[in-house]
Amino acid sequence: MIFPVFPKDASSLAAKHLTQSIFNALKNKKTNTGYTLNRALSSGIQNKDSHIGVYAGDADTYRVFSNLLLPVIQEYHRVLPGTVHKSDRTMVTLPDPDPHRRYILSTRIRVARNLKGYAFTPFIDTQHRKRVEHLSITAFKELPSPFSGEYISMDCTHDILFKKGDRFQDAAGINRDWPASRGCFMSHDTRFRVWINEEDHLRVISMDNHGDMATTFNRLVTGLELLEKKLNFAWDDTLGYLASCPSNIGTGMRAGVHIRLPHLFQTPEILHGEAKKLNLQVRGTRGEKTRVEDAVFDISNEKRLGITEKDCIKTLHRGIVHLIRLEALQSKSKH
Ligand code: ADP
Ligand code: MG
Repeated sequence: MIFPVFPKDASSLAAKHLTQSIFNALKNKKTNTGYTLNRALSSGIQNKDSHIGVYAGDADTYRVFSNLLLPVIQEYHRVLPGTVHKSDRTMVTLPDPDPHRRYILSTRIRVARNLKGYAFTPFIDTQHRKRVEHLSITAFKELPSPFSGEYISMDCTHDILFKKGDRFQDAAGINRDWPASRGCFMSHDTRFRVWINEEDHLRVISMDNHGDMATTFNRLVTGLELLEKKLNFAWDDTLGYLASCPSNIGTGMRAGVHIRLPHLFQTPEILHGEAKKLNLQVRGTRGEKTRVEDAVFDISNEKRLGITEKDCIKTLHRGIVHLIRLEALQSKSKH
């Protein structure tokens, strides 16, 4: 392998941190499932607007390619070298930030999880992908009420299912054999969902059509605990839960709301500046890299490593309380 040619304006963390000496140390290495640096970088090489630019093909990627991955991880999650990840998934009590339901349309909290012993989605083969689906379905069958529900295979058309991966995921190899062994588990009340073989083996999701996020969080941690009795998730004592994208390791948690902020929509520099200070990420209405429709933003915690799950939900709560106050102030000053 020769030193990769990143696109001219590539801004990814991988492009930034891949020095010649790191490259030389890693170029001939392979993980225990055979994943290489070339594959790890393919999405970042093909997409100049990649943010991270490197994907893990298995848990071992984080060990074998740590010379590159650690600086990327430290910069994305803003953690110091040597940070040991800690988990805290005890229940929370938080006041509803929008009791009159003026701003928040819905809350969605998800965690990324991968099964120990299987390559991750960029590198998994057909048989193992099928096995991941089978093991997950077996676990879903034993879930008690209110978590019990049904598994919908992606082979049937259904609009609650996730979309085929975008060009970043495509270049990483995640869309191979689409839609085989992809699907979505949904509890009977639809509030607890698990995506199978999207960007990670599992995306465990809790959703509500209100902003009372403690309810959503507490449901998620209970559901996760039930699944953990049946499934063995890839975990590292320093990096926490491992995921195909380094931005998702640690808690694996993205806690977010769909929130309508018509005044802040008019002043994007204020919204983005405030969000940054609050450790929040702002996405478009239909997910990452989509546009904002009808002033509805997807706002969520940005860091997932070096903070606990409880910290993730508290970051979201504190930030949303602040943004709602700002939105209300701007609205008053205009009327
Ligand atoms: P993730 O990688 O965290 O799953 P994506 O942005 O890739 O996030 O996709 C999330 C999907 O869930 C998108 O279709 C998005 O519109 C939807 N979504 C995200 N947040 C919410 C929310 N608070 N309420 C309802 N739907 C949401
Ligand atoms: Mg996604």
